[in-house]
Amino acid sequence: MSIAQNLLQIKSQLPAHITLVAVSKTKPVSDLMEAYQAGQRVFGENKIQEMTDKWEQMPKDIEWHMIGHVQTNKVKFMAEYVSLIHGVDSLKLLQEINKQALKHNRKIDCLLQIYIADEETKFGLDETELLELINSKEFKELHNIQIVGLMGMATFTENQSQIKAEFQHLKTIFNTINNQENLKFETLSMGMSGDYELAISCGSTMVRIGSSIFGNRNYQH
Ligand SMILES: *Cc1c(COP(=O)(O)O)cnc(C)c1O
Repeated sequence: MSIAQNLLQIKSQLPAHITLVAVSKTKPVSDLMEAYQAGQRVFGENKIQEMTDKWEQMPKDIEWHMIGHVQTNKVKFMAEYVSLIHGVDSLKLLQEINKQALKHNRKIDCLLQIYIADEETKFGLDETELLELINSKEFKELHNIQIVGLMGMATFTENQSQIKAEFQHLKTIFNTINNQENLKFETLSMGMSGDYELAISCGSTMVRIGSSIFGNRNYQH
């Protein structure tokens, strides 16, 4: 099937309240344009340089989401245009995003990444660190960022009940924080090609789908 067919097929099955982020990392602009022409306007990339190159070349009504781990010294390259940064996991990074957003006289939406997987390689905060961060004085001084929700990645495993438990854990944290703190969370970013249906059944509002739309990537990210 073509990229457009894959995209329309997935979209036709997604509940209306779910945002689809088309994860286009490693793919050429021509592939992204095919998705764009099929109506897709939200794209996710995991490298700031690559995302910026694509942003320069593509129509300006696209929402660009940074879904990868962000290096502090590269925030400045995307501060002008990025719509949502999914992988924020430290106060230091938030302070840099805030500083760069201020330079462009804008407010940048961010998701805090929560560590839910049973793997050492995945980034993110645990619940205690999350609470510490959002209750800190330094955090409350950041007026050019807005935390609009949480993001998480499940363990890379075939074990569906483990994945489900990890998604449910993230949803529980999401609900707890939303009720207790003075934040207005609207986005819960969880689910990829292999597990997005499960993620939606556990309360996801935003899925990040790459290979099911664009095909397998040549190298693993
Ligand atoms: C690559 C990536 C995805 C998409 O993965 P697929 O399995 O190709 O759908 C989703 N989220 C993050 C954070 C990624 O890095």
